[in-house]
Parts: sequence; C-alpha cells; structure tokens
Amino acid sequence: MNYVTGDDRAQPQLLPPAIEDYVESSSPARVIDSFVDSLDFTALKFLRATPASFGRPSYDPRDLLKLYIYGYFNEVRSSRRLERECKRNLEVMWLVRRLAPDHKTIADFRRDNSAAIIGACRAFVLFCRDQGLFTARLIAIDGAKFRAAASPIRIMDQPRIAEEIEKLDARIAGYLAKLDETDVMEPADDEGATAKALAALQQRRTELNRLSGRLERDGRKFIVDGEPDARPMGFGRGGKPPSYNVQTAVDADTGFIVHHDVTDEINDTRMLYPMAASAKRVLEREQLTVVADAGFSSGACAAACEVDDITACVPANRSGNPHGDGFQFDRSAFTYEADTDRYICPAGRALLRKPRVDRDGLIMYVAKDCSGCALKPRCTQARYRTVSRHQHEDALERMTARVMADPSLMRQRRCSVEHPFGTMKRMMSGRFLTRGIRKARTEMALSVLAYNILRSINIRTCPG
Ligand code: SF4
Repeated sequence: MNYVTGDDRAQPQLLPPAIEDYVESSSPARVIDSFVDSLDFTALKFLRATPASFGRPSYDPRDLLKLYIYGYFNEVRSSRRLERECKRNLEVMWLVRRLAPDHKTIADFRRDNSAAIIGACRAFVLFCRDQGLFTARLIAIDGAKFRAAASPIRIMDQPRIAEEIEKLDARIAGYLAKLDETDVMEPADDEGATAKALAALQQRRTELNRLSGRLERDGRKFIVDGEPDARPMGFGRGGKPPSYNVQTAVDADTGFIVHHDVTDEINDTRMLYPMAASAKRVLEREQLTVVADAGFSSGACAAACEVDDITACVPANRSGNPHGDGFQFDRSAFTYEADTDRYICPAGRALLRKPRVDRDGLIMYVAKDCSGCALKPRCTQARYRTVSRHQHEDALERMTARVMADPSLMRQRRCSVEHPFGTMKRMMSGRFLTRGIRKARTEMALSVLAYNILRSINIRTCPG
C-alpha cells in the first residue's frame, strides 16, 4: 500500500489563485483586519497615519499594527520572527497583503507608537462596552508578575555597585599609566585600542554612578542594571527575578479585561482603588462592585472605594500572633470600644491608643498593666501586649464582612481572573521582550488586545 502523496511542487496553481482564498472565513486574522481598519489612526496619533506627500513611501501603520496583533495572538512577538512570518505564513500574507517589512521597521513601529498602541487596546475595550458585551455586575481584580528583560544576576545594591566601582577605578588607573608610558616611549602601536578600552571603562563608571544615584533618589535597596524600571519580585523562598507587576480588572461574567496596567509595585497592597476607579471610569458606571484576593487588602484603598461608590469585597490579610507557641491570642480576641477608642483584652483590661500613626496607617494600642495576669502566657512574651488597628479599620472590616457574607465571591474571582493571566502568560512566555516600563506597557497592551479579541471570538462562537 502507498503513502498519501502530496502534489508535485512544480505543478502550476498549487495554491488557490486568489490570496483571499488562503484564509478561512472564521480565521481570527479577519477579525484583526476588520478591527484595525475601523480605528481612527489620526485620532490615536499613530506616526504616519496619513501618507507623506513626498519622499519614499512608508509602510502603513495599519498593516504593522495588524502584524503585531496577529503575532501576539499566535505567540510570535519578536520583530525578526514576525519578519519571517511575512514571508511564509499565508494568513500573514493575506493580512498585510504580502508586504514584507524588515525586522527593524517592525521593531521601530512598536517603539515609536507606544501611546497609540495602548490607545488601540483601549479602543477595543470601549468598542466592546458600546456593543453591550460587558455585564459589569462584578469586576475581579488581580495582579501577576511578568519577568522583565533582564537576568537576576544584574540586580545590584549599593555595596555591589561600590565594589564594581573600586575594581573599575583600579583598571582605569592601570590604563592611564599605560597611556603615560606609551607617550614616553613613543611607539604608539596599541594606543588606539588602549584609549578605546579606557573610554568603555569610563562609560561603565558613569553608568554605575547613575544607578547609585537612582537607588539613593528612589530610596530603594536594589536596582536592576540595564532595566532600572523593573524590580526584584517574588514570594517565599524562591528567587526574586527582575519583574513587573501586571494588574488586570476583568468582567467576571464575560472574562473580558476592561482595564490593565503595568506597574513596578512589588505587591498588590496599593492597587485596589486605582484599578477599581479606572475600571469604573472605563465602564462609565455610577457604582461598581469589585472583588480581589487578600493581597489587595488595604485600609486606605477600602476607604477610598467607599468614598467613590465602589463596593470592594476583599478578605482580610492578617496573620495570627506570630510569637510564642502559635496558640497565643490574636487581635480578634480583643474587643474594640469605638466610643472610648480603646481595646479591651480577654482579661478585661484596657489597651490605650498611642498618638502616632505609622506610614502604613497603623495605630498601636498598648496594655498599660499586664502584671499578675493569669492569661499572660497565652497573650504575650513581652512586658506589655500591643494590638494594631488601621486608621481605616471600619472600612476594612466592612470590606471583609462582604466576603464572609458571600463566600461564592472568591470562587467567582478565581474563575474569572486567572484564565486571562494564564492565556497572556502563554502568549508572552511569562516575560517581556523589551526594556523599560514604557515599552513593557506597549507589549502588555498588544497582549491584552490579542486576549480580548480572542475572548470576543470565543463568546461569538460559544455564547454559552
Ligand atoms: S497579658 Fe495583658 S493584655 Fe494580655 S490578657 Fe493579660 S492583661 Fe490583657
């Protein structure tokens, strides 16, 4: 029996005669094509949105945007790989009408149109909103770390910078001495090479000074050499590679990302209100209900949400008393008396408020007299027991109570926010290709746009 055989390569008309026939009617490339053609490129401020009247014709930014969205949709992100796809991928040939821009043109487009690409991502969200694709019943907020384009070995602190500066200074002094020697002896055969090496060392010295200055200015402990916008991020004992914290606000019923941001926040504690307020603005709602995990628990954000008519549902993020044998009273054993602004301990004694509020908004309450207390072994190993209370504790408690009253909220959160991150991490291999937060935001906008287009296709084909 023979194998199934293909066509003869020399046979004329092996492919369909019209380029239109290369692409199926259900192909996502057609959705990308229609969406990009519907955008107002001048209003979005794309470079060369209208062709120049003289000089060499440039590529249409519409074609390059289609190429990038298609690339992110299909996990092809680098400009060199996109250049290759233009020459071998039939859908890409159809999409950009057999144009074949080189990789530099492709990369320059992404670099030069950062704000416009972010605007195109937002335009798709507004289009979906205007089509009534969002229910906005519940918005789930979450954050995930995406690796920056830098290696963990490039994380520097002040001692490491100082050590490298010391070594550089020694090498620079050596080269200067060599140059002086050359001046005296006059052969000058490798003078050019020495001067070049010296210039490179001095340039590195300037760069290290700049990194040290930025560490000092920002009050940070670490900085990533070559990618100073990123920060070491991670939890637990594992490594903390240079990363960005990507935030999303997802419509829980449909799975669309209604708002996103790329930040250098090392955790999610300060992100609840900014994300919720931005989602509310995008959705043009008077009131919004949002849900997030305990990492977003913050008294300041809870209070800000209440003021802005946002109903936040976030569980408390509190650990038990970490001292002793793990069976000591945690703060829930203490009763707060609002009228006297003090806590009553399990032994019935008062804990009085300290006047100072720390920079995280915490107020300390201290027991004045723990002497002779029979419960002390279960309460504290210190002389006096202290309990902390956030200055917006009431708002925090209300936020927590909503989750306790409806435990299904956390399940809805998990089902809605984790899928978009999983899809985008696959599209981007969990890491950015470009450096700097501005370029990272451009990349994430392309990824979110590709995800939302994918979501709209899935909803149209499988509405259930
Ligand atoms: S140790 Fe102090 S704070 Fe704790 S129960 Fe006894 S009296 Fe109250």
